[in-house]
Amino acid sequence: MRTAVFIVVLFWLPQQLLAQVPGRPRIWWPGDLHAHTIHSLDAAALGGDDVARTIRLGEKQGLTFLAITDHQSIASQADPAFASAKLTPVPSLEWGIMGHTGIHGTRTLVPEVDRTRPPETWNIQVDLTLAGARARGSVVVVNHPAQGDLMWSWTTAAFDAVEVWNVGWVFPFVRPMTRERARAELAARGLSGVPGALSPELASAPEVNSGGCNVQSLRFWENHLANGERVGAVGGSDRHVLVSPGYPTTWASAPDRSLPEILNAIREGRTAVTRGPRVRPPELTASAGGRTAQPGDTLPAGQPVRLTLRMALPGGGLAVIYRGREIVATAPVGPGTATVLVNDTPSGPTWYRAEVFEPLIDLGLSAGDRVLWNRLAAAGPKARPEDLNDFLSRFGERVDEAGRWPSFAIPDALGRFLNADPRRPGHCISGLTSAIFVR
Ligand SMILES: [Zn+2]
Ligand SMILES: [Zn+2]
Repeated sequence: MRTAVFIVVLFWLPQQLLAQVPGRPRIWWPGDLHAHTIHSLDAAALGGDDVARTIRLGEKQGLTFLAITDHQSIASQADPAFASAKLTPVPSLEWGIMGHTGIHGTRTLVPEVDRTRPPETWNIQVDLTLAGARARGSVVVVNHPAQGDLMWSWTTAAFDAVEVWNVGWVFPFVRPMTRERARAELAARGLSGVPGALSPELASAPEVNSGGCNVQSLRFWENHLANGERVGAVGGSDRHVLVSPGYPTTWASAPDRSLPEILNAIREGRTAVTRGPRVRPPELTASAGGRTAQPGDTLPAGQPVRLTLRMALPGGGLAVIYRGREIVATAPVGPGTATVLVNDTPSGPTWYRAEVFEPLIDLGLSAGDRVLWNRLAAAGPKARPEDLNDFLSRFGERVDEAGRWPSFAIPDALGRFLNADPRRPGHCISGLTSAIFVR
């Protein structure tokens, strides 16, 4: 395989944001696919927000769609506040007790696994339940697949996308998987030795152990791509309390922000994820044989491919393009808008995707701040909202006072801090794209 890389900096005309596709032009719509309200028991216990405030917070962040994903609940949809002139509320729920999926576009509850039946039937129940939801028009996203006691262990291809970016990139609250932890979790679920109870796609995720759960979720996604499955990458703030929706932001490429178009974009993998709504999505295109493809599209195999990655990083950063699991180009990019061009000739079916990184900014943590941060990190999912409030009061941006807790947006320096990426020392992950397929 041959690869050549060119870097050019040019003015980024608004028209270039429009996809070069037949039919109505597409633009990028920022949103969040994972938000809890008081209709989730855990969020209610923490002092979380009602539907009205959750939607108002999404509007304040400039989001154009927002999925309300309460645990096993669609009660949000009966609330008159489940409406907005500024954003499209997505009727959703977070399904699953042993591993979670976001089921989007559903207006009915989806039954859980019947655990009174033998454990040998549970994987089949999961497969049939998700396939049934998709057949009824819902979009299924596997949430935080590599996350400790919430790991997604099931062997199924009945989903449309993987939540590869949950909360902050290497959120210290959530520890990465190990083989031992995965085995212990299966035992806790009564699934030790049950065929199919740990999918091969997840079983190898602990091979990547230096970048946190999201890097392992990326590996899970890649393993499904390597099977030839067409699945996209999305993010989710998974916000329960205090932090506004949109950190990270999922971007959907669609002609408008109507519910059917947003769901279609996610179903087809026309997505990108950034660390917040004010970071533009990286735009990857690939051309071969006179055809131009974007994430979600497929190009014919056996031809040279011309890749173009456009991004806008105010302080510059780093661009990385992958062919399958391999890096084909790593390029530093200057401040402002930049384009990286790569020529590549794949030897067979594969996929292309991209990640972009920005330098960390010193938050100026005092000794006391470090004590507070370490306490938050050590407490894990049991972190006290009082501590989170103290930390965000120091480094967040207060945007709303109307609930039990104030709500915060994440300013630039804090956003970088929360998304530090050990794979690129001194950098945070800024954004990533879904895959363009070569078949
Ligand atoms: Zn979850
Ligand atoms: Zn959740």
